[in-house]
Amino acid sequence: MTASEKKQVPVSEGLWTTPSSPGEKPQLIGSKCPGCGEIVFPTNRRCINCQNEHMEDIKLSRKGKIHAMTTVMLRPPAYYKGPVPFSIGWIELPDGVRVNATLLGAEPDSFKVGQEVELVIHKLQEDEEGNDIMAFGFAPVEA
Ligand SMILES: [Zn+2]
Repeated sequence: MTASEKKQVPVSEGLWTTPSSPGEKPQLIGSKCPGCGEIVFPTNRRCINCQNEHMEDIKLSRKGKIHAMTTVMLRPPAYYKGPVPFSIGWIELPDGVRVNATLLGAEPDSFKVGQEVELVIHKLQEDEEGNDIMAFGFAPVEA
């Protein structure tokens, strides 16, 4: 396989935007209720708050703060090929939504509640054809 045949495949479609220019950065895609203003991630057609069925897609903020986190010490089921231990957390975005994500870019135990983190799209693992499976996570904001 040559490099040009190698593709980047998102772990799931529709989770984040694909930048169309180098200056653009990916953003997570959520849904906002035009009725009550509820915001959810990932997208959902029906509002969990008021049952409105006309939720609209919105781009979520790239930066947020760690609301809660934990470090996973044991290797998850076989399909997971990433490093162990790793940290996962709930990231509170200024949009008013919390996102469950892997924490990256620092030692697993070094993350703190309230720490500012930023969206990163990273290679999770390779599939059988050698394509990069891409996933989202959050990493400390560069000072
Ligand atoms: Zn609603």
